[in-house]
Amino acid sequence: MTARRQVITVLGSTGSIGVSTLDVLSRHPDQYSVYALTANRHVDQLLEQCEKFQPEVAVVGTPESALLLQKSLRSKGLKTEVLYGEKALCQVAASEKCDAVMAAIVGAAGLAPALAAARAGKKVMLANKEALVMSGQLFIDAVINHDATLLPIDSEHNAIFQCLPFSHKRFPHQHGVSKVLLTASGGPFLHRPVDTLDSVTPEQAIAHPKWVMGRKISVDSATMMNKGLEVIEAHWLFGIPASQIEVVIHPQSVIHSMVSYIDGSVIAQLGNPDMRIPIAHALAYPDRMTSGVTPLDLTRIGTLQFESPDFVRFPCLKLAYEALETGGATPAILNAANEVAVQAFLDERISFRRIDYVVANVLDKVMTESAVTTIDSVLMHDRAARTVATDLILQ
Ligand code: NAD
Ligand code: MG
Repeated sequence: MTARRQVITVLGSTGSIGVSTLDVLSRHPDQYSVYALTANRHVDQLLEQCEKFQPEVAVVGTPESALLLQKSLRSKGLKTEVLYGEKALCQVAASEKCDAVMAAIVGAAGLAPALAAARAGKKVMLANKEALVMSGQLFIDAVINHDATLLPIDSEHNAIFQCLPFSHKRFPHQHGVSKVLLTASGGPFLHRPVDTLDSVTPEQAIAHPKWVMGRKISVDSATMMNKGLEVIEAHWLFGIPASQIEVVIHPQSVIHSMVSYIDGSVIAQLGNPDMRIPIAHALAYPDRMTSGVTPLDLTRIGTLQFESPDFVRFPCLKLAYEALETGGATPAILNAANEVAVQAFLDERISFRRIDYVVANVLDKVMTESAVTTIDSVLMHDRAARTVATDLILQ
């Protein structure tokens, strides 16, 4: 007897993770079908994806894009229903017609649909780390209360997940784990003289040495805010305290992270730096399937290097640790300030070193330790932080 195909919604299908997800799905058409695809602006790309994957629904950002897509789909004889806006994103994430959701929208915009998927008890494959950084315990509660399955797509967290004992994916420090070691490539400016960092251009910042990714996460990798967000993400995913999450710079990006046990064992997950590995892992979990990734040849790589991160070069990493330590809405504020600052840098409105300046100043002005008990309060802090960040940038 053949099993029923798993039905997938891909949120952010035109992005780097979205495209990799569709690549993996296309290798296993007998096991997966697509219920919905979503994109913000790239209508032409979404149209091509709809032609190939024939989803029931496609969601875009605006009514104008929806009209455009609908016309093109009909002219090709495709029946895909076209919707737009946040409500529609939540609808396709929570629909009873899908089993699993790839949450691959970038930034805070992905929170509501990822949460909707969790509340609907889906298998949630979470790439959108910002959603978890913002909402923390609220997101985890939604997963637990609605019997959803949360699988990390971020390569480091997926690696840690793979290195943890099967029965102790949460609170592993209570079961013999002494530390999780998050590896970081160090980005394109690992060895550039610190006093020249302020003059780097967006093109230089997004030219990541090892990973091809979206623009925002590439800048986050250059500031190491990405690793900071990942420390917070690891804390919430695994329920492990910040003091037991260590960042190790590993420029080759072959070890995707490690778990250190109290008996002295360290377990690592290795692979070529290609997001199709964690995507295939999460899609097939607990089974395995091919991903299209070239097998790792360690003899060709030869050397693996490690070093400690420098907080003077990477102040964003320190700010993220501090935000996690402070707790409450602080990680959401850090994330919002960073999103605004990174966009301003990409638009060439501020220089590279203004990113950490803006984030640090927003944290000084908006910091709150009060626990966040509702998503509305998270979003209120997010908005407040964006306003202060925008004002700082205009000054
Ligand atoms: P990307 O910029 O390439 O793609 C983002 C996707 O989100 C696009 O499909 C875009 O249309 C959609 N989108 C953007 N703004 C939106 C909005 N306001 N409303 C609805 N949709 C919107 O980004 P990416 O690199 O694929 O990253 C996606 C997420 O995955 C991020 O949270 C990132 O941190 C995380 N992630 C990415 C990688 C990677 O290798 N790219 C690795 C780990 C984690
Ligand atoms: Mg990562």
